[in-house]
Amino acid sequence: MATAENAYFRTELELRRERLLAASQANAADGTLQQLLTSVDDALSRLETGTFGICEECHDTIEADRLLCNPLIRFCLDHLSSDEQRALEKDLVLAAGIQKALLPRQDWSVDGWHACYHYQPANLVSGDYCDLIESGDGFLFLLGDVSGKGVAASMLMSHLHATFRTLAGQNLSLQKMVEHANRLFCESTIAGQFATMIVGWAKPNGKITYVSAGHLPLFHISAAGVRAREATGVPLGMFCTTNFPVCELTLEAGDKLLLYTDGLTEIFNAAGDEFGIARVHSLAKRHGATEPRAILTACLDEIRNFSAATKQTDDLTLLVLHRAS
Ligand SMILES: [Zn+2]
Repeated sequence: MATAENAYFRTELELRRERLLAASQANAADGTLQQLLTSVDDALSRLETGTFGICEECHDTIEADRLLCNPLIRFCLDHLSSDEQRALEKDLVLAAGIQKALLPRQDWSVDGWHACYHYQPANLVSGDYCDLIESGDGFLFLLGDVSGKGVAASMLMSHLHATFRTLAGQNLSLQKMVEHANRLFCESTIAGQFATMIVGWAKPNGKITYVSAGHLPLFHISAAGVRAREATGVPLGMFCTTNFPVCELTLEAGDKLLLYTDGLTEIFNAAGDEFGIARVHSLAKRHGATEPRAILTACLDEIRNFSAATKQTDDLTLLVLHRAS
């Protein structure tokens, strides 16, 4: 395991050790604290001997996101006891339910705009973020992808959700909102975890302002054709103080925006070819004139045909905004 990660886990474990020692002084302290203290000491000694993060059964590396959630674990997912496995499955099903409840309503219509999305975790929970929030004059649309997969990524996703839901009610400019969110995200995540995101504000007059923090290009579909708009800033969580330039777009009646996560572009076929941005662009050209829901269906059909029997390995989210009038 890398030195920086070791240092991180050592600090975390020593902090837990201190807390446990303090708590065990209290009158109400029971034997479980002593057991935990032993587990923490064991983990610290595994760090010393270089066996931290190695499964005691198969000697393979333990999943990084699980270690981040719980540095005391000693077995990889394949070698949990059946009780542990059942508990984990229950937790995941619960987490999936919570995450589903965080999604915005489908077929969103507000101020002459219509939006629909497709949200598909690779497993039970997803590290993708998708939200629509009514905010004063118009509404906010947000689509993002947290680094990593699984439980740790889904926790960061719900963190982003809470952050933006709170900031949206604060009367901030788009730029300030993203700067605040970035700082909060930086301060609450560890090094190496970040999120690419598009945060946009759609107004009733068709004007859109948006920030693309290191995210894949969005596509503006209009009668004149399909235009890709590249990212203009770095991902959230990379640097605590950084600027996020705001871009502008105007959508005429009938125009659409297509946003997606890398679960779309990074799908591979049996020959090992990647779906890629160019295919998304061509898809937007061919299906741009159809209804938003039909664009989503076309996307899903196309990747199904492309990837055929290969399994979905990444979280996938698609969002289409349509200026109806
Ligand atoms: Zn194992």
